[in-house]
Amino acid sequence: MSKKLIIKCPICKTLVERENETFPFCSDRCKTNDLGNWASGAYSIPDTNVHEFDDDEHGTIH
Ligand SMILES: [Zn+2]
Repeated sequence: MSKKLIIKCPICKTLVERENETFPFCSDRCKTNDLGNWASGAYSIPDTNVHEFDDDEHGTIH
């Protein structure tokens, strides 16, 4: 007896079996949709590499 892993499609919340070709997405469309989300920054990714630089050099005398 093997367990079936079923999760919800991250895009449309349809249940998807692990056997599905497009797992963890229910379809190619949702897979593409997900890539689109990444590209447009729909997911919140911690900006660990982005720092705010202070252009105003305090203490510099011109
Ligand atoms: Zn889906």
